[in-house]
Parts: sequence; C-alpha cells; structure tokens
Amino acid sequence: MTSNTQTCDVLVIGGGPAGSTAAALLARQGRHVVMLEKAHHPRFHIGESLLPANLPLFEKLGVLEQVEKIGMPKWGVEFVSPDHDHQVRLEFGEGWNKSLDRAWQVRRSDLDEILFRHAAAEGAETIEGCRVKAVDFDDDGATVQAVLDDGAPRTWRARFVIDASGRDTFLSTRLKAKQKNDKHNSTALFGHFANAERGEGKLEGNITIFWFAHGWFWYIPLADGTTSIGAVCWPYYLKSRTKPLAEFFADTIAMCPALGERLKHATLVDDAVYATGNYSYTSTHASGDRYLMLGDAFTFVDPVFSSGVYLAMHSAFEGADLVAARLDAPGKVAALRKRFERDMRFGPREFSWFIYRVTNPTMRDFFMYPQNPLRVKEALMALLAGDIHNRTPIWASLRVLKTMYYVVCGLNPRRTWDAWQRRRRNIRDLGPLVGENIAEAR
Ligand SMILES: Cc1cc2nc3c(=O)[nH]c(=O)nc-3n(C[C@H](O)[C@H](O)[C@H](O)COP(=O)(O)OP(=O)(O)OC[C@H]3O[C@@H](n4cnc5c(N)ncnc54)[C@H](O)[C@@H]3O)c2cc1C
Repeated sequence: MTSNTQTCDVLVIGGGPAGSTAAALLARQGRHVVMLEKAHHPRFHIGESLLPANLPLFEKLGVLEQVEKIGMPKWGVEFVSPDHDHQVRLEFGEGWNKSLDRAWQVRRSDLDEILFRHAAAEGAETIEGCRVKAVDFDDDGATVQAVLDDGAPRTWRARFVIDASGRDTFLSTRLKAKQKNDKHNSTALFGHFANAERGEGKLEGNITIFWFAHGWFWYIPLADGTTSIGAVCWPYYLKSRTKPLAEFFADTIAMCPALGERLKHATLVDDAVYATGNYSYTSTHASGDRYLMLGDAFTFVDPVFSSGVYLAMHSAFEGADLVAARLDAPGKVAALRKRFERDMRFGPREFSWFIYRVTNPTMRDFFMYPQNPLRVKEALMALLAGDIHNRTPIWASLRVLKTMYYVVCGLNPRRTWDAWQRRRRNIRDLGPLVGENIAEAR
C-alpha cells in the first residue's frame, strides 16, 4: 500500500440507482463508504418509467418527497395494437395490493442526482468524474484504481467492493462472468418530444405501449411537458438503417399511425436521437467473498415492463444486508450469499417469462382482452407494479394465467408455430451495431 492509497470499508463503482441506494444504506450504518461515478450528475440516462413498488423503497431510503416533486404521476398503462381496433387501459389500483396504485415517470438525470446526493447526505464519500479502471482482490479485500477527469490516478484499499456500474458490467466483464441472453435480443431507438398529445387528468401520466411490425414503442409523459418516445426493435431492423438516426426514427414512428397521431404537433427536442443495442445479458454469479454486483451490473433483460430501476434498487437493499453481514460476521454469510444469488435471479426470471412473450399474438390478446378468472388479472397487474418481493400471494394465479396461455397457444397451433419461428428469426445474433451506443444530435 503506497502513502497515496486511501482506505474505506466499501467502495461502490457507479452512482446510478443501485450504487446510490447501497451507498446510502451502508453509510447510514456508520460505515466508511466511497462511491465513484465516472460521469457528473445530472447526467442523461434512459429508463424514465418507475413502478409502484419503487415507492416503498424511496420511502425507506428517505427520498419519497423529493422524488414526488420531480415525478409525473403514473396510474396505469395503456396498450395499443395494430391488430385490434380498441385500446386498453389498466390501472395499478386493479392489482392484488390496491395500495400500490401509482408510480412516477421521471427524468433520470433528476432522479439519479437525488439518489446520489442523498447518499452523500447519509455520509458516503461521493466522487464524480472518477472512473474505476482496475480492481485486484486478495484475502483482505481489494485494491481499486481509478482515474479522475484530469487524468490524476487515485487508489483505494477497500474491505468490500460493490459493482453498480450498470451496463458497463465492470466486474462481470473482467471476471468473464458476462453471458449473452440466448432467449432474447433487442435494440432501442429513442428521443424526447415537446407538444405530444396527452390524456386528461389521471390519464396524463400513463405509459403507453404501442406494438408495431418490428417491435413496440414506449410513450412516457414527463412532468415538464416533454414526452419520452422509444422504439424497442429487433436487431435486424436497426441494422437495416442507411440514413441518419433522426430520419430513421421518424420513418419508424410513421409505421405506427396511432403513435403518429399523438405526435402530429410534436417536435423532437434538440433533434437528439439515441440508439442502443444488444442489451440482454446475465452473469454467471452475482457475488464473491469480497464483492457483489447490483442491478444492471449483474443482468438486464428488456425495458418493456419498466422494471430496471426497481430491480436495481431492490438488489441494493438486499446487497447492503449481505455486505453488512460480511463486514461484521464473515463466518456467517454463506446462507445470506445463497439467498442473495437466488434473489438476483428471481425478479428478472419472473419478468422474463412475460417479456419473451410480449410480442406473441396470444399474449397480445391477453393484454387486449384482460379477464380476471381466479384473479389472474390482479396477479398480472401486481407483477406490472413490481409487487413480486412482498409475499403478495399472486403466484397461484400467475400459474393459472401461464396455463391459460399454453392452452390458447395449443388451440391455435398454426399461429403459435408461426409466432415461434418469427421470434427465433427476430432474436438471432447479428453482431454488434456500428457504434453500439449511438447518440446523434443535428
Ligand atoms: C432502452 C432502455 C429503456 C429503459 N427503460 C426503463 C424504464 O422505463 N424504467 C426502468 O425502470 N428501467 C428502464 N431501463 C433500465 C434502466 O435504465 C436500468 O435498469 C437502471 O438504470 C439500472 O440502474 P443501475 O444503477 O444498475 O445502473 P445505471 O443506472 O446504468 O448506473 C450505473 C452508473 O455507473 C457509472 N459507471 C459505469 N462504469 C463506471 C466506472 N468504471 N467507474 C465509475 N462509474 C461507472 C455510470 O456512469 C452510471 O452512472 C431501460 C433500459 C434501456 C436500455
């Protein structure tokens, strides 16, 4: 250890929702936490639609009122399909737990800054413009090397390292633990619009999902009047692009007349369009003796049910307990670690079953004609609210729903076979996009 090396109990890589939540919880316990963020808050991030299950987490963290101030109330979700002549509105209040009846749409730059500053207020040492470059583990902890924006190197000795680096998957990549998700593959194209048409009253903040030929769109109204629009499309479609991103995005929107109608008076903010690809992956494990991975640093599947921020924050609550136990009573963590590994897979797995089928015509019919025998709709709404970790008794009803799905698929063999073949073609790996994370502004 050189004289320039600093020490801490826990070093957190990345100050997004997962990292900031874990840092706040551990600092609150009086531990010396250092959180390094390569960017400077407020910084752009996609992922603006939150779930009702986020609210109890904000409350426990002590930021509920701050988040409410920046949020557009979101009471439900709307589905619009090109093959149906009606649209469907589902409210979270129709879910199993009627008290989980709303969430918020937020600008991530605002939300992530609130969480990051809150971690500092709880006592974490937070450093922006500081990119972690290397982590070397030994029996007592880890040596973490980072570099500041001006090129100055910094080194820490940490007893424990939390990787919350998001899609950069810092540790998973270096430990060769990152795996492509063979069951899913998609890309996204997105931007912000001014003057998009909105519903009235309680409907104003609803998220809308529009299916179209190459995937689906999100429509997320934000509190300042801006609306976030994104097309989640199969890789072959984004690969077919031969024009600038903004033109390609406009052409894509034109393929969905119902969305086009809502955007007829709208303009793209700053003419800025972003694209991102190949974001479905997992890791072979989520923890080691001296580290764990949280949120997107461990896995990410797909944005369709807006589960990313919730799962990231939930993993931070679970992870903070594990870190505290490892620091205080190292001999007793085996069972906790097993539970953490199980928990990190549980949420993504439950959402995945629906994610993999959301463009299937049978599943689309389920969303477009929601019925509630044996409380299946209440259970589905509970899942869409993120109410999966609270012992809410939805699982028998979800099993019924899944059985109904297989029965309907079996009754329509031709349609099911065609949909299966189409999906296999759609998720095939076409290699990285040129530039992978592309942002274009004219
Ligand atoms: C197209 C798309 C749409 C989405 N829509 C939604 C949505 O509507 N709702 C939702 O809940 N989720 C959505 N998500 C998912 C959501 O964005 C993520 O799940 C969520 O941000 C995960 O939080 P995190 O803290 O794990 O990672 P992040 O939020 O990505 O934070 C990681 C942080 O680590 C920093 N970092 C990375 N590497 C280093 C390093 N070496 N050193 C220091 N700092 C580093 C980064 O700068 C970043 O600030 C979407 C995702 C995509 C791809």
